[in-house]
Amino acid sequence: AKAVGGNQWHWFDPGMDRAADEAARMAADLRLALARDEIFALYQPIVDLNTGTAVGAEVLMRWRHPEHGLIPPDIFIPVAERTGTIIELGRWVFEQACRQSADWARRSGAAPEKISVNVSARQLADPAFVGTVRDILDRTGADPAHLMIEVTETAVLNTGDAVTQLEHLRALGLRVALDDFGTGHSSLSLLLDLPVDVLKVDKSFVSGEYADHAGAIVVRNLIGFTDDFGIDAVAEGVETVEQAARLRAAGYRLAQGYLFGRPMPAADFEDTFSSMESL
Ligand code: C2E
Ligand code: CA
Ligand code: CA
Ligand code: CA
Repeated sequence: AKAVGGNQWHWFDPGMDRAADEAARMAADLRLALARDEIFALYQPIVDLNTGTAVGAEVLMRWRHPEHGLIPPDIFIPVAERTGTIIELGRWVFEQACRQSADWARRSGAAPEKISVNVSARQLADPAFVGTVRDILDRTGADPAHLMIEVTETAVLNTGDAVTQLEHLRALGLRVALDDFGTGHSSLSLLLDLPVDVLKVDKSFVSGEYADHAGAIVVRNLIGFTDDFGIDAVAEGVETVEQAARLRAAGYRLAQGYLFGRPMPAADFEDTFSSMESL
């Protein structure tokens, strides 16, 4: 196994027929990664398109493997999900976010008020999840109103008690966002019946493969639905000034993407977005 340059990354040797062994090794390494301090958190700004200020941040997990280097979450999150390690990783990242939130709240004006945390299907299905969230909030002194949980429609619709779990989280005072909106196969009406406060329009419609024609139509029409349902919309994956202008013209207020900032360490976030307003 080796790491290669650029955006390419390979865990497996090409042509190797012991892929299962390698996958098992990654899973084993991942189980130890937290204890070995290999996991860290980055923050990406969510901005108000009208003012350019960061009103929120999404926390995104990273794994720096001692041999393989930086492993993208698209690779290790599914492994963690399959093996159950996501429960521990999810607890860690939520606690990170709560500590950061409490710290930013103490130094008001220095940082965004809202931090969004991704929660996977396996966590949502865990009966202990809501209790864990409550414990961490208590322990860190974070204000639940400053935290948002991001779940995908696939996770919600494939998890038995997901709706009840989301209702419990909202009862604790957290907000809930539906992530990667539009990438699943469910109907709009079904999704808008879910207990969610925010809808994150997937980047495939904003800057990705559907951005040109179909995506533009989806993006333009979704904002009407969210307005009618009293849900906030966040456009994901904004990479160009033109995309930002088009979203603003369509009525979007909130956006996230490389144009405004890449995921970055909390300290860089503070330097880049000093004296920010809150959502
Ligand atoms: P996501 O939740 O949809 O997170 C947004 C992803 O889009 C991030 O990738 C972010 O870096 C990327 N992104 C942001 N702006 C742009 C842009 O303008 N253009 C493009 N092309 N991409 C942009 P990242 O950090 O690699 O994370 C990938 C996925 O891994 C996340 O997608 C999420 O599903 C998962 N993930 C990351 N951290 C966590 C975590 O702490 N817990 C869980 N359960 N999943 C996580
Ligand atoms: Ca503030
Ligand atoms: Ca997300
Ligand atoms: Ca997303």
